[in-house]
Amino acid sequence: MVYEKCCISGCNTTRETHRLFRFPRNDNLRNLWMSFIVPTNPQLIVLSKEQLLNKRVCEKHFDIFQFDNEGRRLRYSYPSLLTDNEIAHGVPLTATGQPIRRYRGHASTVTCVKFNEESTMAISGSVDNTVAFWDTLSRRQEPVQVLKDAKDTITAVQVTNHEILTCSVDCHVRLYDIRVGKMTSDYIGQIVTFGSITHDGQCFVLSCADSTVKLFDKESGELLNTFSGHESKDLLLENAVNEKDSHIISGSANGEVFYWDLINSNCTRKLVHCKQKPVVTLSQHPTESYLLTACEDEVKLWGTKALEE
Ligand SMILES: [Zn+2]
Repeated sequence: MVYEKCCISGCNTTRETHRLFRFPRNDNLRNLWMSFIVPTNPQLIVLSKEQLLNKRVCEKHFDIFQFDNEGRRLRYSYPSLLTDNEIAHGVPLTATGQPIRRYRGHASTVTCVKFNEESTMAISGSVDNTVAFWDTLSRRQEPVQVLKDAKDTITAVQVTNHEILTCSVDCHVRLYDIRVGKMTSDYIGQIVTFGSITHDGQCFVLSCADSTVKLFDKESGELLNTFSGHESKDLLLENAVNEKDSHIISGSANGEVFYWDLINSNCTRKLVHCKQKPVVTLSQHPTESYLLTACEDEVKLWGTKALEE
């Protein structure tokens, strides 16, 4: 029987070897199917509803999250057309234009998102004062855990293999040790707009709303150094630590990028990204002497080796 064949281009699967699924009668669900299928199968868009309902899609085009534990296809499942390689990565490697997960649960604007180290969890901070953990490997819609310790907006989250650092407008940073389920809270005295952790894991580097960057010992909570000269205004400035843990880096409201010696807190170099426009976000290469900075619609990549020599 000719029609009992998968309609996806390049796939000649028949019901002899795989399960074939009909297009759904439900208009919304069928449209969702089409949104995944049409980009690579434009020949289907000209078909009428009745013609489509005679077509079949084989089980190879549904990723594992679309089936229950017994292997039955879930009621509202759809063929995402991910390849085996894409499913192994958990993401579509060719854009279908459709997200594969949606996480709704925060009561207000989400300010920051991060993967955990294994990329099994998505972690989000919000204006609703909470940090939520979402299991990216399951179809679960609710967060698996919500941290509710902060009393004001979460501005930034950092994740290491066993720790999570959260920064808040409530002037605290909180360190969660996932292995032992312990939380340590430190009062910083200023709104903390961003936090990073030195590569050796020993210190926090906190950007504060009083136009300072502060270096704290992670174990003792002791303030080790304060870096200043830049302007934060009311921006949520970020910071970075260079790849050798020798310099602290921050942008500024005036378009400059500051480098400070981590030990003596002297400003050793300023890069000028642009004049009088804020440099809020930046990213240091983890192992090499490269820095990314952004200002308005422009991203710059800097080779910074000479800075350290
Ligand atoms: Zn197929």
